[in-house]
Amino acid sequence: MSHNSQLMFVGASLDLGVCMERQVVQRAREAYLSGRTRPLEFRLQQLHALQRMITEKETEISTALKQDINRSQYDTPLLELVGIENEIKLAIEKLAQWAAPRSVERNLLTISDEVYVQPEPLGVVLIIGAWNYPWAVTLQPLVGAIAAGNAAVVKPSELSEYSSLLLRALLPRYLDKDLYPVVTGGVSETQELLRLRFDHVFYTGSSTVGKLVMEAAARHLTPVTLELGGKSPCYINKNCDIRIACRRITWGKFVNCGQTCIAPDYILCEPCIQGQVVECIRQTLLEFYGADPKCSPDYGRIINQRHFSRVMSLMEGYTPVVGGQSDASQCYIAPTVLKDVPPHSRLMQEEIFGPLLPIVTVSDTDDAIRFINEREKPLAMYIFCSDKKATKRMIEETTSGGVTVNDVMMHYTLSSLPFGGVGQSGMGCYHGKHTFDQLSHHRACLIRSLGMESVNLARYPPQDRRRARRVRMALKSPLIDMSKRTFIWAVTATVIGFGLFITLLVILLIAAGLNCTCWYWRGFYNYF
Ligand code: NAD
Repeated sequence: MSHNSQLMFVGASLDLGVCMERQVVQRAREAYLSGRTRPLEFRLQQLHALQRMITEKETEISTALKQDINRSQYDTPLLELVGIENEIKLAIEKLAQWAAPRSVERNLLTISDEVYVQPEPLGVVLIIGAWNYPWAVTLQPLVGAIAAGNAAVVKPSELSEYSSLLLRALLPRYLDKDLYPVVTGGVSETQELLRLRFDHVFYTGSSTVGKLVMEAAARHLTPVTLELGGKSPCYINKNCDIRIACRRITWGKFVNCGQTCIAPDYILCEPCIQGQVVECIRQTLLEFYGADPKCSPDYGRIINQRHFSRVMSLMEGYTPVVGGQSDASQCYIAPTVLKDVPPHSRLMQEEIFGPLLPIVTVSDTDDAIRFINEREKPLAMYIFCSDKKATKRMIEETTSGGVTVNDVMMHYTLSSLPFGGVGQSGMGCYHGKHTFDQLSHHRACLIRSLGMESVNLARYPPQDRRRARRVRMALKSPLIDMSKRTFIWAVTATVIGFGLFITLLVILLIAAGLNCTCWYWRGFYNYF
């Protein structure tokens, strides 16, 4: 093939790719506009199908993750699939409640109207996932997208190649092909998708790409959810049980080879406990992964050579106190601990996203708070402390997407808690009902009759001082909760109150009728 015809061929395939993404999104939009996502039965049926996919294909999914990231077959259900299954189960159970009109308070002017918030689908959502938990970060938002009645184009990360290809093969076998297509490919495919118009973009990945996603979405005024990363601090107070603290931290830091967005990025502690912290982590690593973690079936690998080199370069100039061994041919980096790391080092400037755990010393709790507040707002924060007052102070005087005290990452597992970042660590949140709400439009609805026109006269011109005052007073009236539950409470309280009053009255009358000898009753009787 001549150079020119080669260029033409490349150009033609690029055009084909561009066309393909455009067609996929077009098909998803047409399917959405057909209205078939509106009935709740359809959404429930799709959610059940997704649930079946996870149950039936667990082995294939585990194998793909083993190939992508050397994830242990036992870790996959625990770290990735249980979360998705729980989200699906919850959505199935609660969908009718989530999608129902939500009653709101009224003022005097709207007291007889029907006033509610109606969650509605947004349209076509683009879900862009990262590679570290490729199933959770794509399917959990998808559960919310389906529940909320949207169509969704899923773009998994090209770096977790086996998982991406498997997702592309599986999803159309279980879900509506047109409504929930999977687009695979790399940066150019993602960029091409981002040129198209969506009704919401849900992105999980780095802050750098997050900015590009937001910029692209802004061109269409498309709202975004950005699930980003950052440096999540872990403070160990000298008064806590350091052995238990280090056990929990070691698990959270080195699971998935440190490639977890909410893994503790670094430890803050006072110099007097640093040695003990290092020893406890060393002991725990021995217990978890044996003398040579490279041979442990429970220890993962770095996703690719680029990230391997990136993580290794962060260690340059430092001598680890634990670990430090590596094998480029396997993308293996041993669980590594570095002590007395200076705050201005590169290790402390960027998210590590690998199995390196630096320890930075601080003089006390105040110093730890100052250290955290001088940096970008993190996605997660961990506090190990047995003093409740100090813990509360630390929570109150810092901020982060989420916080777990005396453990790591557990706030992620609870679907009642919103999961997401703040500032540089992201915007918007998801999990459980939060995903449904994030991917819904909350339509304000007020329905009134054409009667009672006299009530409205005061707001029409010609205006005078008296009329204006009357409208102002009505608008300033306190909000009244007319929800069913409040109504039932009010009726119950009235019935009970009335019942008590009648009972008391009957007792009094009986006592009076019996002409009771008691002086009190006699006096009371005489009085009347
Ligand atoms: P990545 O490189 O796989 O990128 C994620 C997605 O962005 C991919 O689909 C990719 O195709 C796309 N992408 C990459 N470069 C792009 C570009 N220039 N333009 C358009 N699209 C592009 O994943 P990553 O960013 O390396 O993921 C790791 C980061 O994700 C870490 O910072 C981690 O903390 C964060 N993360 C956050 C969460 C969370 O829930 N908050 C979860 C997992 C990972």
